[in-house]
Amino acid sequence: MNAWLADAIWRGGKWESGVAMIAGEDGRIARFSSDVSDLKHAARLSGRVMLPGLVNTHSHAFQRLIRGRTERRSGAGPGQDTFWTWREAMYRAANLLSPEALFHIARMAYLEMLLSGITTVGEFHYLHHAPDGSPYPVRNMLALQVIRAAERNGLRIALLRTAYARGGQPRFLTPRVEDFISDTSALSKLCTNDRAWVGVAPHSVRAVPLDYLVRVVEYARAKALPVHMHLAEQPAEVESCVAEYGLRPVALLDKNGILDHRFTAIHAIQVNDDEIGKLGAARSQVCVCPTTERNLGDGICPADKLLGSGVGLALGSDSNVQINLLEDARELEYHLRLERLERVILDRENLAARLFTCATETGATSLSSPGGKFETGRAADFFTVDLNNPSIAGADAGSLMSNIVFSLERTAVRDVYVDGNCIVRDGHHRFEDEIVRNFAEVQHLLWSNARV
Ligand SMILES: [Zn+2]
Repeated sequence: MNAWLADAIWRGGKWESGVAMIAGEDGRIARFSSDVSDLKHAARLSGRVMLPGLVNTHSHAFQRLIRGRTERRSGAGPGQDTFWTWREAMYRAANLLSPEALFHIARMAYLEMLLSGITTVGEFHYLHHAPDGSPYPVRNMLALQVIRAAERNGLRIALLRTAYARGGQPRFLTPRVEDFISDTSALSKLCTNDRAWVGVAPHSVRAVPLDYLVRVVEYARAKALPVHMHLAEQPAEVESCVAEYGLRPVALLDKNGILDHRFTAIHAIQVNDDEIGKLGAARSQVCVCPTTERNLGDGICPADKLLGSGVGLALGSDSNVQINLLEDARELEYHLRLERLERVILDRENLAARLFTCATETGATSLSSPGGKFETGRAADFFTVDLNNPSIAGADAGSLMSNIVFSLERTAVRDVYVDGNCIVRDGHHRFEDEIVRNFAEVQHLLWSNARV
């Protein structure tokens, strides 16, 4: 048994003091207690509060490689440096990676996640083969490198194995749906616990033809796997879908029975009221990635309308240009403020709590993660925040969650636990020096011979 007693714990949408959280040897929360004997035996986390670990619902770990390397004009004409020119740079970087380089890059991204309080990642993984498209002898070699990186770091991972059938780069592609399903099944068999599990991710409407998409979703339904898909990120994507099928992307998925409660649309920026209604009626989730979307100039997610229609909103670090899920949470609200010239939009009464739920519980639902919430039987995944950190000092019970969501600096995150195991202690991960050193070496090796 492990027990912790912080100054306060965030449970059931409010702060509670004098309550210890107790976990069993299986890493699950066994009970909460205010009994004097339990409080006496609990590890005391003084000056700190405990919160459920953040759930990063959408990441492409390898894109950590190009952070800071695409912030200049590409040579395209005026008004033409967009998502699509960035994507060309991302493709060139993707083709540089050896399995070992991918391992070190993923470890770097996952270290940053842990240091910021993230305890589960949904890794939307589409690097499958060698750069020329030929499969590795172990077909899931690259997915296994990413899982190994998460396990070595102590991060819980949902490996969302991505189907990519056309366009893109040869190393992304699995042209036959039978191969995609058998590769996914093979990987699932290797993931036998809830520290690493498999979901499926048809990349996008443009990358996966409809018949292929339907087969992948049927497979996922039979296995009760989460289904994630980039959806309506860019106007050109919507236009090409209309040209091919005569329908907008969400309407196409709805007509073919693909939307349900296990479905998560990534981005959902270019959606109209009809599509928002369809996503809500299906009880689907939308994962918004504001730090990436602002970096790529994607546009603003109509988060208020989506919430209003019953869609659950989760958050993702996506391109990993910045890894700070609370920044994503605040940007979800701030982008709407800038657009509407108005304040406090997503929830009139409990805005910070609502945004924190997006960063935790909804993400856990989307990924089928056992964490995301302090509740008996769920995983003891949590982080602590230093109440004396300058970014939130002086907060009281009524303003603490707003301080955390809107103003917390990553330096305030002190301890991070996954399954009741301490992964980050006093702001440090025990492998951080080694991870940073190896990553810097990979960066040097790759960029001294190449140019994005
Ligand atoms: Zn993405």
